[in-house]
Amino acid sequence: MTLAQSSNRADEIRRVLTDARELCVRLGLAEGARPQSHGLFVPCPWHNERTPSCSVRRAPDGTLSVHCFGCDVSGDVFDLIAVANGLNSRRDFPRVLRIAAELAGVPSDLGGAHRGPPIRARRVLPEPRYPPVEDVAGLWAACRPVGDVSEVAAWLHSRALDAGAVEDFDLARALPLAARLPEWAGSRWQTWGQAGYRLVLPMFDSHGVMRSLRARRVVAGEGPKNLAPAGYRTGGLVMADALGRVLLTSGKRPESCPESVPVRIIVAEGEPDFLTWATRFSDADETAPAVLGVVSGSWTSGIAERLPDGARVTIRTDPDDAGERYACAVFESLRGRCTILRGGLRGVA
Ligand SMILES: [Zn+2]
Repeated sequence: MTLAQSSNRADEIRRVLTDARELCVRLGLAEGARPQSHGLFVPCPWHNERTPSCSVRRAPDGTLSVHCFGCDVSGDVFDLIAVANGLNSRRDFPRVLRIAAELAGVPSDLGGAHRGPPIRARRVLPEPRYPPVEDVAGLWAACRPVGDVSEVAAWLHSRALDAGAVEDFDLARALPLAARLPEWAGSRWQTWGQAGYRLVLPMFDSHGVMRSLRARRVVAGEGPKNLAPAGYRTGGLVMADALGRVLLTSGKRPESCPESVPVRIIVAEGEPDFLTWATRFSDADETAPAVLGVVSGSWTSGIAERLPDGARVTIRTDPDDAGERYACAVFESLRGRCTILRGGLRGVA
């Protein structure tokens, strides 16, 4: 297809896919949505959030327009279809166009411009992926010790976190402004670093493999407190300290843990609490707990299965609706197999 042909096809698809609600439902983005005139607000597929702030609506020209008031991403129907499929709307445009054509019920090649009826059956979209492992490892390797970047050190200090301990345990790093970032580390308008998202934490899958990164904003500014790689899947990943990674990697009781005591695990919510708990214990303390950090979508049965039978799990999520939901998910996935305690916010583990 020539560029002109694909641009014509894109215009045709834009004129067909104009029902914001229907499209969001078919893309799996409508859960938790709230209506607005000519469309709806959905939980933003570009950043993690609890309340929907991403507007998908029919613009005055009749086509769908997307704008997130949380992370300031703006786009059209192709950007939305791309992000819902873990694709990049520029790099992967031919694939995005094919998926869009199928959703619109128009042929994706130029075998006649017949506009068939829209496909009603929900298309099984490909599972969104995590960012390429080598990109993740490369960006993590390019990051600096947290004490090297004054804004990051100041943010840690403001949270009563010990930058030295964060460095010693290598729990988080600072993003240098000069780093060359993959396309997913930012929006179309600015990079994580430019927007002040300079505290970087690794996210691990149920086998202890670093699959993604999270960036926390360390200066005052607009937008969400943290960002995940744009356009990629974030679910099923947790923050983990060294012992937490041993648990995930082996799926067994760590050998360093004395037989006489149960394995202790703390599940904390969000970056500050994860870092607080993960820096609280000396690595010489052989009864120190493993610490896992959860965010929206983190906890899965796959993660739960890696925790050994008989473990003593303290859930330290926030006492709000989201925190209670995470706590319930952890509880349901472990009950009968582990001892589960609901910790207060700043109690003793
Ligand atoms: Zn957003």
